Amino acid sequence: MKTQIIKINSTIQKDEIKKAADVLKNGGLVGIPTETVYGLGANALDEEAVKSVFVAKGRPQDNPLIVHISEFDEIYGLVKEVPESAKKLAEKYWPGPMTIILKKSDIIPSVVSAGLDTVAIRLPEHEIARAIIRQAGVPIAAPSANLSGSPSPTNAKCVYDDMNGRIPLIVDGGECNVGVESTVVTLVGDKPKILRPGGVTPEQIIEVLGETEIDKAVLNQIDKDEKVSSPGMKYKHYAPKTKIIIVRGDREKYFDFLKNQTGNFGALCFEDDVDEIKCKFVTYGISTNSFSQSKNIFSALRKADSLGVDVVYARYPYEDGMGLAVLNRLLRSAAFEVIEV
Ligand code: AMP
Ligand code: MG
Repeated sequence: MKTQIIKINSTIQKDEIKKAADVLKNGGLVGIPTETVYGLGANALDEEAVKSVFVAKGRPQDNPLIVHISEFDEIYGLVKEVPESAKKLAEKYWPGPMTIILKKSDIIPSVVSAGLDTVAIRLPEHEIARAIIRQAGVPIAAPSANLSGSPSPTNAKCVYDDMNGRIPLIVDGGECNVGVESTVVTLVGDKPKILRPGGVTPEQIIEVLGETEIDKAVLNQIDKDEKVSSPGMKYKHYAPKTKIIIVRGDREKYFDFLKNQTGNFGALCFEDDVDEIKCKFVTYGISTNSFSQSKNIFSALRKADSLGVDVVYARYPYEDGMGLAVLNRLLRSAAFEVIEV
């Protein structure tokens, strides 16, 4: 299959938006820009189309997909009930980088929810994503548009690197602004729970819902056989080919650690660190700005492979605010290997 890339910079490009929507309506897959990361979209109501998403990504069958809508009211057909808490969250953070899990309606094929009786719904902020969904006239199931296990794509070139020959169309809408995936909040169960940190911080969720749990899998490694609330949490994730090890300690200790290493190694550090770095390096944002880190973490992980080193030592980010989402991705990319210094 030949993969075509079309550039869409504005929603006035009606022909291009129609072209992407037509591929989706006909059961095809499209790489779509969103504010979080690029999605690999399929008609969520077309079982065969959704199955082909799992094939294109090599995604395990038990890892459910997020269903994307273009207006809030579209949620009503997709779930059994919309509780007050969901309305409140939506009012504050939709359109935006937050996904809400609710009991699914029968219209959602079980392949979308990987057999669960719940479904994850998101209303993205990205105008082009919403225009394509609106034009397609159906909800769009879209996981991140990377090969399963590798870092999520934050520009069209990264989608192409993973999906060339596997999907017919990629829409190039430029770099993603947030750079990490949406915050996944489940409202099924006694208390709201954050299953994955993302573009909306835990503090922001708590501001609306009050007491909210954070799933233990966010910062901890889960055994293969352990039951998890969010199936995606148990898989190796976001990992470049090069081994990543996280180094936890202050700036000076990190530099000392690097000075004492031998062999062919590199650094994954902050932009304000580079004057002190004597080995090959890639940067992921500024040390004091978690938003710049989230925007850059995935492309930095992809660049790590071009350093040509055996191991990359990564600086530990702040854990609060957006930092939690950055740390969650970094820990998975390093298979939870952390050295304390
Ligand atoms: P991705 O598609 O790569 O953004 O991953 C979607 C994430 O949402 C994965 O971690 C899934 O496990 C999670 N997810 C999607 N649907 C559900 C659901 N119904 N219940 C729990 N987690 C879900
Ligand atoms: Mg993903």
